[in-house]
Amino acid sequence: MRKSAAGPSLLLALTLSLIAGTGFTAQAGNASDRTNDGPSIVLGAPTGPENCGLRDGGCSREYRYGVMVWSPETGSQPVRGAIRTAWAAEGAESGGLGYPVAAQTCTDGNCTQTFERGAITRARTGETTVQRTIDNAADAAVVVNKQRPLNPVTYVPENLVNVEGQQLRSDAASALQQLKDAAAADGVAMRVMSGYRSYEKQAGLYNNYVAQYGQEVADTISARPGHSEHQTGLAVDIASPDGTCSLQACFKDTAAGQWAAANAHRFGFIIRYPEGASETTGYSYEPWHLRYVGTDIAGSIHSQGIATLEEYLGLPPASDY
Ligand SMILES: [Zn+2]
Repeated sequence: MRKSAAGPSLLLALTLSLIAGTGFTAQAGNASDRTNDGPSIVLGAPTGPENCGLRDGGCSREYRYGVMVWSPETGSQPVRGAIRTAWAAEGAESGGLGYPVAAQTCTDGNCTQTFERGAITRARTGETTVQRTIDNAADAAVVVNKQRPLNPVTYVPENLVNVEGQQLRSDAASALQQLKDAAAADGVAMRVMSGYRSYEKQAGLYNNYVAQYGQEVADTISARPGHSEHQTGLAVDIASPDGTCSLQACFKDTAAGQWAAANAHRFGFIIRYPEGASETTGYSYEPWHLRYVGTDIAGSIHSQGIATLEEYLGLPPASDY
């Protein structure tokens, strides 16, 4: 959890602005601008009222030279200039980068600002560069779909551990263990069907389907190698211990399926391929396929009532290759 400290009073803000002669600064905003514990960035006078109702209970307010953005998780941070333009192009707080977690800092005219899922750099030359953790195969926020292969396509995760004869990344494995323990405490048992699959293994599966049914049909039932979430080590297929409805849509009606749908987010998992979202995800309903994204993203997706990871991150639909 990130907490923000209380900011100076309005009186102090006015005093500081009079002393500095530059108008309000981000640090010395009034109470309605929330608080800011980051470095002081001059935003000038406010040009509009505070606008709340942003994702996860956030608020923003426009100033002459930028915007102040606040959320309960990240506190209050100023965003301005070319970095703000680039952030807006990414979808601002509802896009791939999420909320700012610090003010921009500059060295020798090169400025950088960090966000929940990445950073934006504006070089002295004027060029802006966006780094996104959703592009990083080793990050729990990575997005893999038919439009977004793993980079590199032969990526192998580190820290794979054994889980019921399958492998998962250690962070996903310990979260899954907590999920299974909590389900068991509610009298619901589940077992692990499938975890990590290597590029080579996925290639074998996919090529078998192509040989059997042709590529068009194969693409509807199996991911191409380098495009499978199972290759990240963050995806797991679960089943009921008695095998009822294994890898079938009716798994949603089993005790394990219902428990997972209601509780997976508490442990950082999402139902990655929900019902009726194949135009976005590229896959039909898979109530058994859980994807570890961490509790921040999973909790936010759940509380915001957003169906897919693509929609949550402002990414284009990936119905096909
Ligand atoms: Zn799966």
